[in-house]
Amino acid sequence: MWGHPVFVAQHATATRCRRCLKKWHFIAQGTALDDEQIDYIVAILERWLVAQDIELTNRELRQRQRSLFEKPQ
Ligand SMILES: [Zn+2]
Repeated sequence: MWGHPVFVAQHATATRCRRCLKKWHFIAQGTALDDEQIDYIVAILERWLVAQDIELTNRELRQRQRSLFEKPQ
């Protein structure tokens, strides 16, 4: 995933790991993300990607975000 725009976006927006999500977005660690939280993160990523003029579908963003957090941190 290195070099993928979403990976870069996750670093830029502090949505890369659960620790960052807790620190910067006040999303508690230790429980799976619910749909509302994933929507929130995807919206942040979309906004950042649009600002960088990078186009990805919402579906692709959601898949990336899900696959990232399916594995234990
Ligand atoms: Zn982090």
